[in-house]
Amino acid sequence: MRNEIVTLSDRRERHLRLRAVQVRVSETLRYAQGDIEESYFQRRKILEEQLQSLQAKLKDVTNLHHASALLGWDQQTYMPPGGAEARAEQLATLDKLAHELFTTDEIGQLLTDLAQAGFDYDSNEASLLRVARRDYDLARKLPPELVAEMSRTFSIGQQIWAKARADQDFAQFRDTLAKIVDLNIQVAEAYGYEDNIYDALLDQFEPGMKTADVTSVFNELKASLVPLVQAIVARIDAVSDTPLKQEFDEKLQWDFGLLPLHAIGFDMERGRQDKSTHPFTTNFSINDVRVTTRLARDTFPSSLFSTLHEGGHALYEQNGDSALEGSMLAGGTSLGVHESQSRLWENVLGRSRPFWQYYYPGLQEFFPKQLERVSLDEFYRAINRVELSFIRVEADEVTYNMHIFLRFELEQELLTGRLNVADLPAAWNAKMEAYLGLTPPNDALGVLQDIHWSGGMMGYFPTYTLGNVLSLQFYSQALKELPDLPEQFARGEFGALLGWFREHIHRHGRKYTANELIRRVTGDDGIKAGPYLAYINQKFSEIYSL
Ligand code: ZN
Repeated sequence: MRNEIVTLSDRRERHLRLRAVQVRVSETLRYAQGDIEESYFQRRKILEEQLQSLQAKLKDVTNLHHASALLGWDQQTYMPPGGAEARAEQLATLDKLAHELFTTDEIGQLLTDLAQAGFDYDSNEASLLRVARRDYDLARKLPPELVAEMSRTFSIGQQIWAKARADQDFAQFRDTLAKIVDLNIQVAEAYGYEDNIYDALLDQFEPGMKTADVTSVFNELKASLVPLVQAIVARIDAVSDTPLKQEFDEKLQWDFGLLPLHAIGFDMERGRQDKSTHPFTTNFSINDVRVTTRLARDTFPSSLFSTLHEGGHALYEQNGDSALEGSMLAGGTSLGVHESQSRLWENVLGRSRPFWQYYYPGLQEFFPKQLERVSLDEFYRAINRVELSFIRVEADEVTYNMHIFLRFELEQELLTGRLNVADLPAAWNAKMEAYLGLTPPNDALGVLQDIHWSGGMMGYFPTYTLGNVLSLQFYSQALKELPDLPEQFARGEFGALLGWFREHIHRHGRKYTANELIRRVTGDDGIKAGPYLAYINQKFSEIYSL
């Protein structure tokens, strides 16, 4: 694998050098013919060299990030527990090196000089300069010692969290989490912010979005979703999930899950699926995208939906323009847009009637004992059953956002010092009671359920709900242009939808911000809750006969 990477990067270097020579040769000819002023020629030559130099330096940084991501993937899939401490050190070294390589004065100077080059806004060159400038300015604000300390703490934090969760004991994780909150405060202070410390952290995941924007979208959602949940709770017995409360062989779940994963367009030649405690997607190239899922006999069909969810993330990564490969422009533009892709394939498609019209007969063949007497309609209603429950990742589409509102509010309280880490479990339980009328019986079902904080991620959770909202904002536009999509899904055809997303979103990578993409794709001026609320209200009013 290492040799392949070297060969590939050598090839790219040669290609870049060759292209630069071609440009110079053609310009020398034109210069000789008196077409071009000497000063222009020299300036152009310098810019070409500066651009190549910048691209090569940024590629080294990207390669280190990908090597670090590979260690992270291994950590969560195959690494034995004994490897934890050494792995934390290795990750800290790689992250520190990447940070040092990226934050040199030389890169800053190149970015400044090249900003004068006048590249077309939509070109890869101009886009790279915008994205690199933004990342560079943020990274320069973090001292290398803080970066290494974060890497080490977050890596060890995940191991400590995993054991605390297994033991259902928040006390084991408390001091580590306090340190993680403190590191996040240091990061936010280093980045700077105007009036809300949360803005600085949110901006890492959702560039340009302010806490006030999120609060406003969330308030609009709450105004509609809270009464909807109440109306459904009043009719909670109208839908049964008894058909799903059986044992489903893990190997068969794995095999069945691969069918839709292939069908939606996940390319196994450029990716693979493995198992992990917390499903995730990562990548080391446009051509090497890893997804994971988790399996248990008694939790069907959550593994199937996590496969579709991570598959949606993976499609975004695999379908970037090949010209972006190895550059900082590859990948999703924001976490919210990324999540819009995973939610789309998991929920809008994977929990839809047309999808199961196609897949349900096959599923019944995989699990005849469990499902042969369960009708398609009963199954469709069961997988969409609304339930007041403790675990975010298993929540239905209606109550899911309540889990996010809770985390969004608690994170703000922790970061502003209004809440101490020691009091977090009680605060969590109080909010669960307020939003869902439930009190978790233990910390594993409450405050310890998610990996994110242990990995240092604060300001990240709101992007899940933003993703829900965006998935419908984009999909409703796709439906306007391709009105027969549901009929295609019922025939097991997903290529037109993938093609639409590839054309409008995936291929651009990070070239455009979320707001630029929203405007280009839908014409809307920013994120809008309307299409999502219309979808949720319509779908669940039908299921619950409201
Ligand atoms: Zn996701």
